[in-house]
Amino acid sequence: MSKRRRVQDLSDEAEGSIFDAKSEKFYFNVYSDASVHERMLEDMTRTKAYQDAIFKFSDAIKGKVVADVGAGTGILSMFCIQAGAKKVYAVEASDMAEQARGVIKANGMSEQIDVMQCLVEDCDLPEMVDVIVSEWMGCMLLYESMWVSLLCARDKWLKPNGLMWPSVTELHLAPITNEGLWQEKKEIWDSVNENYGVNMSSMFPFAWTCLCRSVNIIVLSAENVLARGHVIAKFDMATVKISDLEHVKSDFSFASMGRGVLHGFAAWFTAAFDVRQNDSELNSVVLTTSPYNEPTHWEHSVMYIEHPVTVDQDDIISGNIKITTNKKYSRWLDVQLTCRVKDNPEFEQKYTMNDLS
Ligand code: SAH
Repeated sequence: MSKRRRVQDLSDEAEGSIFDAKSEKFYFNVYSDASVHERMLEDMTRTKAYQDAIFKFSDAIKGKVVADVGAGTGILSMFCIQAGAKKVYAVEASDMAEQARGVIKANGMSEQIDVMQCLVEDCDLPEMVDVIVSEWMGCMLLYESMWVSLLCARDKWLKPNGLMWPSVTELHLAPITNEGLWQEKKEIWDSVNENYGVNMSSMFPFAWTCLCRSVNIIVLSAENVLARGHVIAKFDMATVKISDLEHVKSDFSFASMGRGVLHGFAAWFTAAFDVRQNDSELNSVVLTTSPYNEPTHWEHSVMYIEHPVTVDQDDIISGNIKITTNKKYSRWLDVQLTCRVKDNPEFEQKYTMNDLS
């Protein structure tokens, strides 16, 4: 789903609340607007991965009852009908549900798809389902915490041994360099002198520190990556528990692939649609949001470090990362990173992931 919604007004509303009514209204208002759905549909890596999985493994869908958790425009529900599903329950809390009904009607699928405008948490389906399909992933996989609703749907509606799609998700981390951004930021403060005759170059270290307080959502490419990414968390969506997703913790140790300046770390995710064919062989379609592939609307989640360090080939960058849901507003994330480069002293940095504008 969505990601980069503007939530800058949310902090006051969210004081002392977890999924409170007012901020949830704001959350679902974002999804009632067409723009966020445009972003998702324009992201062909995202939408084609779902379509490929549903069409390629149509045997898993044919004749089956499906729940589309967070149906939005109804696109995934319609893919399932095209692949031969018997019935789809398209559950969508936002007013986009009304638009989905229209689109589904225009595609002649109103008989097979029931659009239910309600929260998954408040919704009852008339029967158990064979498959749950959902696009619930946020930036850095966990942002927005829609997985809470997904697991609620799974535990209420999925038949034993039913299929969760995507079935396995992984969070990846890699050290990165971003000299371009460093120079760009520096230039902003240096150019004040040129533009206005007042020297503000001394502001740059503070500006960089500010950047290091939150997770930045930007597009990186393979050239930014200093060492191949590690999987820092892997989740089997059929069995994962809320407590596994609320606190993610991992150690890391990377060997730099070359000489460069370590400016921080990037996180991204993959989501695999697995099926067992002929009772044994495992086949999958994998949606990847890695900097080695085409950028997606999730972009990359970057945590800059306050004091960038030059590293040489094979230098070890080690430490650990903790990602936890924010205590005040559980759709947000807090990140804590401890890092050591070569024999330099260890340092610690904290980031919040809230306003992703
Ligand atoms: N399936 C669509 C939309 C994905 S975005 C697509 O792939 O294009 C996720 C959608 O889930 C949003 O439209 C949001 O309103 C909906 N959603 C999130 N939490 C929900 C909940 N608890 N109950 C019902 N709908 C929810």
